[in-house]
Amino acid sequence: MKVCFACSECYPYVKTGGLGDVCGSLPKSLAELGCESKVFLPLYGGIKTLTYGLNQIDTLQNIPVKIGDSEHTFNVWFGTLPDSKVPVYFIDCPYYFHRELPYTSDRDEDERFILFQQAVLMTLQRLEWSPDIIHCNDWQTGLIPVYLKTTFAWDKLFEDTKTILSIHNIGYQGRFSKESITAAGLSMEQFYPMGPFEIDGGFSFLKAGIVYCDLITTVSPTYAKEIQTEEYGAGLEGVLQIRSQSLVGILNGIDTDIWNPMKDKYIKAHYSVDDIEEKEINKKNLIDRIEFKYKKDRPVIGLISRLTSQKGFDLMKPFLYSLLGSNDLQLVVLGSGEAQYEDLFRTASYSFPGKLFFWSGYNTELSHLITAGADMFLMPSKYEPCGLNQMYSLAYGTVPIVRKVGGLADTVKDYHEFDEKGNGFSFEDYQADALEKTIYRALRIYEDKDIWKAIMERGMSEDFSWEHSAKEYLNLYEKLVS
Ligand code: ADP
Repeated sequence: MKVCFACSECYPYVKTGGLGDVCGSLPKSLAELGCESKVFLPLYGGIKTLTYGLNQIDTLQNIPVKIGDSEHTFNVWFGTLPDSKVPVYFIDCPYYFHRELPYTSDRDEDERFILFQQAVLMTLQRLEWSPDIIHCNDWQTGLIPVYLKTTFAWDKLFEDTKTILSIHNIGYQGRFSKESITAAGLSMEQFYPMGPFEIDGGFSFLKAGIVYCDLITTVSPTYAKEIQTEEYGAGLEGVLQIRSQSLVGILNGIDTDIWNPMKDKYIKAHYSVDDIEEKEINKKNLIDRIEFKYKKDRPVIGLISRLTSQKGFDLMKPFLYSLLGSNDLQLVVLGSGEAQYEDLFRTASYSFPGKLFFWSGYNTELSHLITAGADMFLMPSKYEPCGLNQMYSLAYGTVPIVRKVGGLADTVKDYHEFDEKGNGFSFEDYQADALEKTIYRALRIYEDKDIWKAIMERGMSEDFSWEHSAKEYLNLYEKLVS
């Protein structure tokens, strides 16, 4: 099975969220199952070619590509995904990709990914490599299925190639003005009200991909259902309902080489479900590192997130101060994003020194220290396609408190006193008091050490490795190809 992965993020080269984790892990797991996979990624300015030992491919230099009326060229660099033999092809076009961040709100954001997508197909042509599957990810690659059925349809190389489009977050749809259709070299014929290219008077790369791809996947079974509803479909629910027979939800896995309490390279003490007590060393280490006072039975709640409205922090506004003011607990927050949420946590940290630690920014080491060191992990998302942090937390015996939505609903089982199945705490209504009550419920149960330990053990015993998910993807590929 030959699989081409087209993506705009791939760990460790570039990652802004879960998409980067998935694209760095799934191709490796598929390779272990015998797939021949190749990954394609833009060579953003932030990717250091020396650090990753990337090389230019001499035969793939100065390849011309037209975006609207302007001519550009791109070069291709080559590397392999660390700890694997999976090849990664980097599309290098400094004009478009040498910018501070992978995504921008610049006026040519559409052109950047039009170039990338055409360059992926043009590179495949030059490599004379005919994939069975092109696995596209999110709007940045949504036009590839369109190209295969239109402007690249003449090429016999792609005659038997099937396309899969994975939706990692329906909130991002690559919506541009209709002029982008021309820039992409596509026909305006498909642009009419409710047509394949049209949404609210503009053009969406994601919608086009949904219409043209052979199969749509998303990152959890619950999210696959949710995005077909008005509440969660963000305007694409209609087209997804039409394609519902071709829409499948597969839960993401976690990279157990990186997120594993038995070998995590950032944490102080390694531990497993059999010596769970060692986790306490990591709690003390976390609290020491942030220069707070450690006390054994004082609960520590962790939070690591992009600070956007999706993640549900509006729910914390009404009770954050009373929670911190009237309870002996510590809250450790790592995240960056919208000013309103940064201000919320920063201001509260000034009011509660020693109780609320807020670190604004992206910090891999601290994210591991929190995951291993906290007792509980908070994720009250408004919507959550899959969510990785709750799976990391479960694997580390850090009990998640989540809203029962998307992938959170598929992974976190609410603890009830009368059954012995819960691995965390969850609530349904998107209401501040529902979250508040759930945090208090968790704090109460935390005091019973035996019950708490059993909850931790159930979480740590779950298998969220990629192997399981990769097998599901492989089954899908095989079905499509046959
Ligand atoms: P999303 O993709 O919506 O951001 P996920 O839970 O699927 O949410 O994935 C988030 C990933 O990004 C996780 O690996 C998480 O640890 C990481 N992450 C998010 N914010 C930060 C941060 N400030 N510092 C370090 N890692 C972060």
